[in-house]
Amino acid sequence: MDHEGLRHWSKRAADWAADYHAGLRDRPVRAPLVPGAVARQVPGTPPEMAEPMEAIWSDFEAIVPGGMTHWQHPRFFAYFPANAAPASMLAEQLVNAMACNALIWQTSPAATEIEQVMVDWLRQAVGLPDGFVGTIHDSATNATLSAVLTMREKALGWRGLDEGLSGGPILRFYASAETHSSVDKAIRVAGIGQRNLVKVATDADRAMTGAALRAAIAADRAAGLMPAGVILCAGGTSVGAFDRIGECIAVAQAEGLPTHVDAAWAGSAMICPEFRALWAGIEGADSVVFNPHKWLGAQFDCSVQLLRDPGAQVRTLGLRPTYLETAGREEIVNFNEWTVPLGRRFRALKLWFVLRAYGLDGLRTRIRNHVAWAELARVELAALPRVQIVTEPRLSLFSFALDTDAATESLLQRINDDGRIYLTQTRVDGRFAIRVQVGSFDCSKEDVMLIPKTVQEMLASCSFGPLPSR
Ligand SMILES: *Cc1c(COP(=O)(O)O)cnc(C)c1O
Repeated sequence: MDHEGLRHWSKRAADWAADYHAGLRDRPVRAPLVPGAVARQVPGTPPEMAEPMEAIWSDFEAIVPGGMTHWQHPRFFAYFPANAAPASMLAEQLVNAMACNALIWQTSPAATEIEQVMVDWLRQAVGLPDGFVGTIHDSATNATLSAVLTMREKALGWRGLDEGLSGGPILRFYASAETHSSVDKAIRVAGIGQRNLVKVATDADRAMTGAALRAAIAADRAAGLMPAGVILCAGGTSVGAFDRIGECIAVAQAEGLPTHVDAAWAGSAMICPEFRALWAGIEGADSVVFNPHKWLGAQFDCSVQLLRDPGAQVRTLGLRPTYLETAGREEIVNFNEWTVPLGRRFRALKLWFVLRAYGLDGLRTRIRNHVAWAELARVELAALPRVQIVTEPRLSLFSFALDTDAATESLLQRINDDGRIYLTQTRVDGRFAIRVQVGSFDCSKEDVMLIPKTVQEMLASCSFGPLPSR
């Protein structure tokens, strides 16, 4: 295929995309497949000879869409949706055509400079003070890893980078049990060791408090260990827990410890001023991550990290060998020095398109609707026989269950086999619960109200004993 072929097939792909999105509500949200069903349809050996694009295309249509879980489906209420607004998809097509690698300023000045401006737009949009700057990572996982590595090196006076960790002090990090597994992964990968991530007990509201954090740090100091950093949860994935952000940051500062706040899904809601009380005190954080690829519609991958002082992170992650220097340009920013990978995509263009195409006002309306509709769905679910609300809505996330775990699991399986809506599970104090997370970019109130309607139908038609074995 050559570039003229690309012109032809791109038009066909654009039409396919429009039809695909228009027809999403008619597809089951979750792929109704058994493992191996897709691989069996693809030859086990690579082709020796070039194949016509017609053949490739028709195999795509026959094999792939039916094997997808449709993340852009308006009734995807699982995990947190990875939203792709149409304006974001369009920007990605343009990025795709230019196919740049924005590793340093010189390798694509527009990518670096639009990234700087977009990060500042988002800083203003979520109400962080002047002075925070940042970068765009692929994922919150990598942003949190970057923050943990930076906190580690701060504690070690930047000796770990040269000398390694063996023989050094035992570093301790603090987080609540509500934090995402990406925090555990960062701690492991950074060589801290899982046992040195202290899971501080939470209060009745599933929040780490300043007092609990202070006590954990004091116990470690008394034991001769070296506290190195605090990771705070602003919107846990399980049921939306928020630590007492301001209180914990004040304790960390008094102890001389840096803080990183994981607001991966809930951070986008802070474009609505009325939700900012949930993370009051955030302006004291050293690092904050949130994912526009979740609730703002700038598709995966787009995870923004805002930093009070990027110097510490650049000192930790930045390397500038001669072949990556830009002669005579000392003032430029090379974003690879802020992140773990060297190569980086032009992720800022989709933010530019999305923020302009919908405006902050349009994005706020979506988020406010999702929060309001989640509450309506909770009210209807709570009125159904056997249904118990396990956790109340935190923004647009709540959970519910039936009287036994077996019945709840069986209900969830039936819901997802039915396919009209897609929900996932969590455990709350040991109890199996079904999460409802409203956040799909184009969902309507009717889509959301199909959640209680589906549950009601299933309760009326089945007895929900234990799961049948398969
Ligand atoms: C989704 C999520 C993550 C992980 O995000 P990635 O970008 O997939 O790494 C981390 N923390 C929280 C709270 C999340 O909701």
